[in-house]
Amino acid sequence: MNDANLYSLLASGFPADRDTLCIEAPGAGDYTWRDVEAETARMANLLQSLKLPEGARVAVHVEKSPEALLLYLATLRAGYVYLPLNTAYQEAEIDYFLGDAEPSVVVCASKNLEWVRRCAQRAGTPHVYTLDDDQTGTLLDAARQASPEHAVVERGEDDLAAILYTSGTTGRSKGAMLTHGNLASNARVLHAYWGWRADDVLLHMLPIFHVHGLFVAAHGALLAGAKMIWLPRLDVAAALRELPRSTVMMGVPTYYVRLLAEPGFGRETCRNMRLFVSGSAPLLMETFNAFRERSGHTILERYGMSETVMLVSNPYDPALGERLGGTVGMPLPGVSVRVVDEAGAPCPPGEIGNIEVRGPNVFKGYWRMPEKTRQEFTGDGWFKTGDVGRWGGESGGRPVPDNYLSIVGRSKDLIISGGFNVYPKEIESFIDDMPGVAESAVIGVPHPDFGEAVVAVVVPQKGAKLDEAAMIAALKGKIANFKVPKRVHVVDELPRNTMGKVQKNVLRQTYGG
Ligand code: AMP
Repeated sequence: MNDANLYSLLASGFPADRDTLCIEAPGAGDYTWRDVEAETARMANLLQSLKLPEGARVAVHVEKSPEALLLYLATLRAGYVYLPLNTAYQEAEIDYFLGDAEPSVVVCASKNLEWVRRCAQRAGTPHVYTLDDDQTGTLLDAARQASPEHAVVERGEDDLAAILYTSGTTGRSKGAMLTHGNLASNARVLHAYWGWRADDVLLHMLPIFHVHGLFVAAHGALLAGAKMIWLPRLDVAAALRELPRSTVMMGVPTYYVRLLAEPGFGRETCRNMRLFVSGSAPLLMETFNAFRERSGHTILERYGMSETVMLVSNPYDPALGERLGGTVGMPLPGVSVRVVDEAGAPCPPGEIGNIEVRGPNVFKGYWRMPEKTRQEFTGDGWFKTGDVGRWGGESGGRPVPDNYLSIVGRSKDLIISGGFNVYPKEIESFIDDMPGVAESAVIGVPHPDFGEAVVAVVVPQKGAKLDEAAMIAALKGKIANFKVPKRVHVVDELPRNTMGKVQKNVLRQTYGG
C-alpha cells in the first residue's frame, strides 16, 4: 500500500488523458501529465540510486522553474524529505541551514555552485547537483540516464515529507517538520472547500520555497488534475496577459495592490476567473474593496503558516457565508481553532487573545528542537501560533459573525506601553483611514518611562503630503492617549520580505534608537 505517500494522493487526481498539459511555463517549457510522471520517476530513480539513508533530506536552493517542482514531487516519490530554501539566502545563511538539517543532497543554481559546495563540505553533505531555470544542470543530466518507470516508495502518515524553515525574524530559524499526513489532509480539505475542478487553470506566480506556492497552490492544481500557468514570479505584464485564460490565482496582498495599479486591469481581464485567494500577510480592507469594484471579484482571504499549512478560510461556497474583508473566515473542516487569554481561558467574541490550533494538519515539531517544540504546544496538545486575533467583533464598520476569525498581528509585535497592551493593528486601522494615507505600520520602541513607546511608520498616497503633528493631534481625539504614536515617520515604502510581510524587526531597528 502506497496510499500514505503524498505523491500517490496527488497522482490520484491526475487526469485520465495524460497527454494534456499539467504545466505551461511560457518561455520555460511545457509538461504534460505523462511528462510529469516520467520526469519525476527519473529524478526519483536517480535519488534512490544514491542509496541515501532513511529520512534523508534533499535541500534545494534554486530559482523557480517547472523542473524545481518536479524535483519536489520526485523527492516525495522516493520517500525522502524535501527542504526548500529561499533563493535570497547567501553563504552564511546556507551554512546554517545545511549545518542544521544535514541533508544528503543539495541542489543549487550553477552560479552559486562554488560557495554552495563549500557549505556542503562543511555540513558533510555528500551529493551536490545544479539545476537552473533554463532546463539545464547536472541534476537533469544525471536524471536523463535514469529509467522513466518508478514505483512510489511506501510512506506512513507520520513520515516526514518536508521541512520548511520559518523566516524567523527573531532568533534562529526553525525547521518545521511536515508529514505526508499533514500535507495530504490539508490538500484534501482545500480541494473540497475551494471547489477545485479539473478544468481549472491556476495562474502560479508565487515562489515555491514557501507553503503558499509549494503546498497551497501547487497541491491544489495537481490534486484537481488542473493545468498550471507557471510564471517565475509576479510580473504584472505577464499576469495581465495570462489572467484572461486562468480561473484561479493565489497571491500575497502585494500582488493585488500591483494589479490594481495597472490601468489595463479590470473585469475583462478576469472574465474567466472563479477564485482569487490572498494570504501570508494581511489584506488591507481598501485593497479588498477596490479589487471588488474593479474586477467584480471578491478576494478570498485565508490564514495559515509553515507549521500548520492552512487553518482558516473565508468561504468559497456562498451557502456557507459571505467573504468578509478584514477577516480570515472560519476554521477549515477538521481544524480546531481557539482564542485564549494569557491564562489559557477562551476569550468571548470581540475580545483579543492568543490563537491556538489543533488538527491533522499541525506539524510534528521543530527539527532537532524538542525543547522549543514542547514550549510551543500547550499541555493538552494545542499549537500556539504566536498570532493574536479575535472571533467576531467588527470589520470595516460592519459587525462580524462570531464564527469568523480576524488576525490582529503577531504576539511578539504586541506593544506594552506604560503597562497597557497596545495592538498595532488597531492603531494601523485608524491611521489607514486618515486622508492621504496609503498604509502604515505601528511598532514599539524602547522608552525610558513607558518601557515601550508607540511609533508609526506611514506611507502617503501618491501626491499626498502628511504632517506628523497634525496626524498625532487627529489621533488624540480618537484613541486613548497611551495608544497615540509618539512619533510618525513618513516613508516611501514599508520594508517587506518576499512573501509580502512587513518586516517590523527592520522598522524597530531603524526607528528604535
Ligand atoms: P509563514 O510561516 O511564513 O507562512 O507565516 C505565517 C504567518 O503569516 C502567520 O503566523 C501570520 O502571522 C501571517 N499570516 C498568514 N496569513 C495571514 C493573513 N491572511 N492575515 C494576516 N496574517 C497572515
